[in-house]
Amino acid sequence: MLSEKQVKKLRNKLEKAKKSLEGQLLKFAKADSKAKGNYKTEFPKIGNQIDENAQEMTEYEQNISLEHNFEDELKLIQKALRKIEQGKYGVCESCQQEIPFGRLEIRPQSILCISCKSKKEKQS
Ligand SMILES: [Zn+2]
Repeated sequence: MLSEKQVKKLRNKLEKAKKSLEGQLLKFAKADSKAKGNYKTEFPKIGNQIDENAQEMTEYEQNISLEHNFEDELKLIQKALRKIEQGKYGVCESCQQEIPFGRLEIRPQSILCISCKSKKEKQS
């Protein structure tokens, strides 16, 4: 079992990671007022020349894929924070074994233990 102190430490890490992700998202995206936790990438305005338009398009596409990565990460973090509140944090979603503190310390948003995670990665 994780001690209260360990959970507190991990919660701090999660909250920091959440703030930093939100900050990075807001550099190129806007929070969606209709869907909570959702962001919309804004179309960058560089200029009106053809090469500038092409640059805008490339940047926009890159930002969209970044946005999706950040959003997925953010969702995991929010999920982990909810689990902490419910007292269900640190348990593997697949085999119900406890996830070791060492793993959570590196990646506090982990929802699978290492063996389930590697099993899953082999499948996909
Ligand atoms: Zn597991």
